[in-house]
Amino acid sequence: MLKEFKADLHVHTCLSPCADLEMSPRKIIRRSREVHLGLIAVCDHNSAENTAVVMREGRRNGVCVLPGLEICSREEVHVLALFGEPEQALAMQAIVYAHLSGENRPELFGYQIVATEADEVLGENPRRLIGATRLGLTDIVRATHALNGLSLAAHVDRPANGILNQLGFIPADLDLDGVEVSYRIPPAVARTMLPGIANRPCITSSDAHRLDDIGRACTVFRMAAPTLAEVARALKGVRGRRIL
Ligand SMILES: [Zn+2]
Ligand SMILES: [Zn+2]
Repeated sequence: MLKEFKADLHVHTCLSPCADLEMSPRKIIRRSREVHLGLIAVCDHNSAENTAVVMREGRRNGVCVLPGLEICSREEVHVLALFGEPEQALAMQAIVYAHLSGENRPELFGYQIVATEADEVLGENPRRLIGATRLGLTDIVRATHALNGLSLAAHVDRPANGILNQLGFIPADLDLDGVEVSYRIPPAVARTMLPGIANRPCITSSDAHRLDDIGRACTVFRMAAPTLAEVARALKGVRGRRIL
């Protein structure tokens, strides 16, 4: 049976240097419940180190959590990589780390906190997570698919790190599963305002860096369950599943 699921598939945690330190696993899940989200995805910049703790906290509190990353490509385009299992996200993270240089400077870029389930600090990630990787867009999409993940161009309406602004267009042979528009654009008019996205499946999400941002934009999926496989079917419009 198909049901409606309210989803915010782009939420940062305190691991992202630009995110508020309040973005801890427990607080993210509490806020997600308050705004009635049934499904969220954790997508920190170039890292998945906080995904497993948020997933466990979500499981205890009735919020399904997909592990993901927001990867910055060589072209300085942000791409969401969404997975079903934390192991897949960590395998993608290993590929990203192998193509990411530099050390974080917290005083300049912000703190990168790896959190525990008790919302305590396990440690700081020393890498420069805010930087661009040496992975090209095609490499990122291929590697994500090889790990059974979904690849969506992030905030395509934004001048900073949106694919339309960075490249001027979306390459026809780039095998994206969809695109994301930011909260600034009503999804209903996204195709008219941004003809470059053509007929690619289009979602909207909050790109939350602060607790109050969570759910400020979300996508309602009609699907059988809040899982990655069902999101994939909804993006493709398989057997009645769809984006509402
Ligand atoms: Zn971004
Ligand atoms: Zn983001």
